[in-house]
Amino acid sequence: MLRDQDRIFTNLHGYDDFRLAGARRRGDWDGTRDIIAKGPDWIVQEMKASGLRGRGGAGFPTGVKWSFMPKNDPRPSYLVVNADEGEPGTCKDREIMRHDPHKLVEGCLIAGFAMKAVAAYIYIRGEFLREAQALQTAIDEAYEAGLIGRNACGSGYDFDVYIHLGAGAYICGEETALIESLEGKKGQPRLKPPFPAMAGLYGCPTTVNNVESIAVAPTILRRGGAWFAGLGRENNTGTKIFSISGHVNKPCNIEEEMGIPLRELIERHAGGVRGGWDNLLAIIPGGSSVPLLPKSTCDDILMDFDSLRAVKSGLGTAAVIVMDKSTDVVRAIARLSKFYMHESCGQCTPCREGTGWLWRTMDRMVKGHATLPEIDRLEQVTYQIEGHTICALGDAAAWPVQGLIRHFRPELERRIGAARDAARAA
Ligand code: SF4
Repeated sequence: MLRDQDRIFTNLHGYDDFRLAGARRRGDWDGTRDIIAKGPDWIVQEMKASGLRGRGGAGFPTGVKWSFMPKNDPRPSYLVVNADEGEPGTCKDREIMRHDPHKLVEGCLIAGFAMKAVAAYIYIRGEFLREAQALQTAIDEAYEAGLIGRNACGSGYDFDVYIHLGAGAYICGEETALIESLEGKKGQPRLKPPFPAMAGLYGCPTTVNNVESIAVAPTILRRGGAWFAGLGRENNTGTKIFSISGHVNKPCNIEEEMGIPLRELIERHAGGVRGGWDNLLAIIPGGSSVPLLPKSTCDDILMDFDSLRAVKSGLGTAAVIVMDKSTDVVRAIARLSKFYMHESCGQCTPCREGTGWLWRTMDRMVKGHATLPEIDRLEQVTYQIEGHTICALGDAAAWPVQGLIRHFRPELERRIGAARDAARAA
């Protein structure tokens, strides 16, 4: 269990003042100038030493990502913060921006300095009006106090922070679609390479990071990469905000150590599964884009990147969606298929056509109109989508269906058989 003294987000639940005075009381902006004075190389090295892996879902090492930015490029460089939090079940960045926005603003300054960026653009989900207001308040306060802007923190470094509101497209949470949208274009993913570090926003070197990844950076640098690396497990270090929703007694966001057992996470913080642990049917451990896991796997699973990958799922955004035995699991996954069909940008055929195919077949499964051979065909379609598209939305659409077939094939078969028997009896 995470000790209070190791907690980074000490105002995650908003009991204290989110403004500058409260943030300073909690230690934000303490010694920022000293951190900057140690130079970009020291910052990047410390971030590498911390072992922090991106908190947006992909889990790529943050310090390594920062080191990809060109060192002597004449073009301006940018930091882009992905605050377009739209992954179903995920509501952690929302809480950071509402209750601890100065952590993000300070993180922008330090990360921007480490990558020699001239500005940070925070691309925030369009529905997050309250969060955008809190964040803008923090940015205004930071400008007024000389913490950002010209000669930020008295460091001699000039750095601006801007907010950009999105317009409701899930795909704009994909980093290159986000960049397109930021440039005023239709939010559609770009083919990579080139990667954003070489040609990102306005064709310039750009790093796109998740809100949580940037917001934890100042604390890591104040306390040292080794401190962060000492939490969690090897290759899965530090703390993480988990969003726990669904059939639990107390849905919540909670910061915990990486690698905490799932059962402990749910029982300690979310009041347990509704009706008790034995009433658990399945969970989706990391937002809707990763395969679900049946209870038999949930009993002993640890919540980190590598443990969940070993059981063919993923930590994703660490949004734990809990389903008890009252859940119609086929219907639940079908609903996700509909979501991905709706959010596909339509650029690539396997995704555009395949997501529609998945939804229509899943809808037939829900209604009992499908046939047994369609289960295998459905699975085949997911493999035709996975890995054959420009961006990861195709994979995200395929994996939940694969998880359903892997773990709940008997339920699909039972459903088809029940519908057939009912038709015969009629
Ligand atoms: Fe668009 Fe889907 Fe292709 Fe991504 S995978 S670029 S969302 S069509």
